[in-house]
Amino acid sequence: MAAKRVIGVDLGGTKILAGVVDGDGRIMGSVEHPTPTMSQAALLDALESAVREVLAPDVGAVGFGIPSRLDHRKGIALGAVNIPLRDVPFEAEMEQRLGLPVGVDNDANVAALAEFTFGAGRDARDLVMLTLGTGVGGGVVLDGQLYRGWAELGHMVIVEDGEPCQGACSGRGHVESYCSGGAADRLARRVIGRGATARDLVAREHEALNEIGSHLGAAIGSLANIFNPEVVVIGGGFGVAAGERLLQPARSVILREALAPAGQEVRLALAELGGKAGLIGAALVGLEALAARVGS
Ligand SMILES: [Zn+2]
Repeated sequence: MAAKRVIGVDLGGTKILAGVVDGDGRIMGSVEHPTPTMSQAALLDALESAVREVLAPDVGAVGFGIPSRLDHRKGIALGAVNIPLRDVPFEAEMEQRLGLPVGVDNDANVAALAEFTFGAGRDARDLVMLTLGTGVGGGVVLDGQLYRGWAELGHMVIVEDGEPCQGACSGRGHVESYCSGGAADRLARRVIGRGATARDLVAREHEALNEIGSHLGAAIGSLANIFNPEVVVIGGGFGVAAGERLLQPARSVILREALAPAGQEVRLALAELGGKAGLIGAALVGLEALAARVGS
């Protein structure tokens, strides 16, 4: 990251986390504020003021990780489920407000970049990450480069005409339908009883987790067939908490589904950066924006 430091901003559905990150991925000081959800203008103002709060003279760029689909060709945030962002030229808007180079990517992509650079994938050249949280997000790093495209890996079909997906997704049988924390909550209610959640499945090391792990294995097997990654990193609150209870049943399905030797060779790892991955990955995207500016 050379001498310059960058600011990373992790925009979540409930909180904005902003901090200065140095060349080794260390967070040098951060602030946290609730995410305003009443209007887009209030949200953009809050993001600007969170950046200004941590801004220092040696900061060279700002990166944002946002829970939104993005049109990278035009730099537009197309829409998010839980926050008021719709058809915003996000990058241009923030560059104008802050007077610094700005990079933006979706939250799952920046988490993948952070784990690749400083976390569970730091020794790899190719990585696929799946974050099993409320939904399922994904990111892909190939030959050291973050794939800046769609990468909605959570909406890959693993069961044709299967369980309905969540939220605004009209699909069925998606990874998110089976492997998200939300899906685990539904499974918990079915196998334990009313009021039970994913936490109960994990606390009891419930055998129903095998079912989720098998579905996860089908997803990873397909991803291995497409990308042949060195490592698949599982993150997200539910993913990390359930950990080996999902990875163990996943492994045998991966061996069945993935063509040799991709299935035998792929390493499965749990995310290491936890709640900091979003902020650190956002800073890395800011750094890319800075490098692009210097290079041009
Ligand atoms: Zn879906």
